[in-house]
Amino acid sequence: MRSLDHLFDRNVAWADRKTEQDPTFFRRLSEQQAPQYLWIGCSDSRITANDVLGLDPGEVFVHRNIANIVHTSDMNILAVLEYAIEVLRVRHIIVSGHYGCGGVQRAMAEERGALVDHWLQPLSMFYRKHRPLFDGMGEAPQQLNRLCELNVEMQLRRVAATPIVEGAWLRGVELHLHGWIYGMHDGLLRDLGATVASIEERDALPSIDQRVTQRSEPLSPRRRHALEAFSALGLADMASPPCCMPSLEKPPK
Ligand SMILES: [Zn+2]
Repeated sequence: MRSLDHLFDRNVAWADRKTEQDPTFFRRLSEQQAPQYLWIGCSDSRITANDVLGLDPGEVFVHRNIANIVHTSDMNILAVLEYAIEVLRVRHIIVSGHYGCGGVQRAMAEERGALVDHWLQPLSMFYRKHRPLFDGMGEAPQQLNRLCELNVEMQLRRVAATPIVEGAWLRGVELHLHGWIYGMHDGLLRDLGATVASIEERDALPSIDQRVTQRSEPLSPRRRHALEAFSALGLADMASPPCCMPSLEKPPK
């Protein structure tokens, strides 16, 4: 099939649907974009920032590449960062990886020599350096997923180290960096808890080498809701077990 007419058909249907829902949608979008977020994610076709975040066009500025790697000499990502911070004035930069990432898996493999291996070099060096620790983390999928999490934390540190971000912080610009990971099996994002909003906070982060041995507790939105609900109960309520829980104490004889 040479023609891609079916994509144009889908485009027309989508534009019609949008206009039906909001007749001024495209007019407003064409006049300006004012996203509050910059998303740095993997190129994987299954993860589109707008869908995952439930946002409309115009609401998130996006940069994607294989395995969401941040090379501090990559003109592409530096130009995106500069434009997002200086022109669009985004207040949040989200570095988001995903579990089961093929790019991260490639960084763990023995193959070398393809261009993608140059791209993944910082991550594969990191993995090889800590190989014995990863080997002790269980089966291959567990090792891969832990490296996916650590990759997000590594790239977040790299964003935080760019002169563009440092310069913004030094000028007093409000800019928050977040490290998240997405689970394709349940469609949920998880917060890796490495949010930084200043040079001091960045410098207080443990090194990425230290993080290999520290357990990570990714926080999904569902778990966040549950924790909020529990904390709203107050400590007094938490002290006694719920009424439906059987007592662990032995009954008196
Ligand atoms: Zn990926």
